[in-house]
Amino acid sequence: MMDSIIKIENLIFEYRKEEEEQPVKAINNISLEVEKGSFTAILGKNGSGKSTLAKNLNGLLLPTGGTVYVNGYNTADEEHIWDVRQSAGMVFQNPDNQLVSAIVEDDVAFGPENLGIEPAEIRRRVDKALEDVNMGPFKGKSPHLLSGGQKQRIAIAGVVAMKPRCIIFDEPTAMLDPKGRKEIMSIIKELHEEGITVVLITHFMDEAVNADRVIIMHQGEIFMDGTPAEVFGQGEKVKSVNLDVPMAVELARALRQRGIEVPEKIIGTEEMVEYLCQYK
Ligand code: ADP
Ligand code: MG
Repeated sequence: MMDSIIKIENLIFEYRKEEEEQPVKAINNISLEVEKGSFTAILGKNGSGKSTLAKNLNGLLLPTGGTVYVNGYNTADEEHIWDVRQSAGMVFQNPDNQLVSAIVEDDVAFGPENLGIEPAEIRRRVDKALEDVNMGPFKGKSPHLLSGGQKQRIAIAGVVAMKPRCIIFDEPTAMLDPKGRKEIMSIIKELHEEGITVVLITHFMDEAVNADRVIIMHQGEIFMDGTPAEVFGQGEKVKSVNLDVPMAVELARALRQRGIEVPEKIIGTEEMVEYLCQYK
């Protein structure tokens, strides 16, 4: 049996603006478990329900139907909402919307302060979290003077300082330049290596190859679920919902057509480079 940190049972989520309006069904009966310490990438075109699912994972949205458990807590259980929020941190697309203070260290302290943690412990956590995201020297600076990637690192530090078991990243690199993207991805990988469960929503296929599980969503349902090799190995199915496959997967397919038997497990650019270099 899976030792899961997130357990979703028959989740349905409908947005309803006005009583008389037809509700929009954004999540249509999803059941899913996420294993402790795992790294899951969630893909899907715009409107497939990814952000709605993410917000259901830390109680920002509550199910219309079904149940979501985080670290054993039912997200609909008001008594445990802070346990849920503390267990599953969220990082969103736009870092500007996540920064609340005029000074970096105050920003990072905001989450732990809300958890009622004592000041000395908060200071330790803030220093450690800023170190984790390589932003230690920016402690006393104003977030507004930072680049998009640096701001996103501060937002991540704010979540890390709450010591979550799990972090859900909702397209954290979508607004960043390639350098910023790389920095954020390497921090996500490090956090995963330190034992944090990572759920990464992304539309960059090259980010998804870092995960140990890939889930593709389509029209509020789970369309595919497997290892990156299993999912991207079915290129036609992936493309049928208007998603790309990683560049290395495309290249491997073309090479196979020319008789070079590239192993199925090669899905990342780095692995492909290693593989091709043996022919040097
Ligand atoms: P994704 O993150 O995959 O782009 P979303 O979860 O944002 O998808 O959206 C899923 C569906 O829910 C879409 O049809 C979208 O239009 C709808 N939706 C999202 N947010 C709202 C909202 N606040 N009010 C009404 N409908 C919404
Ligand atoms: Mg979204």
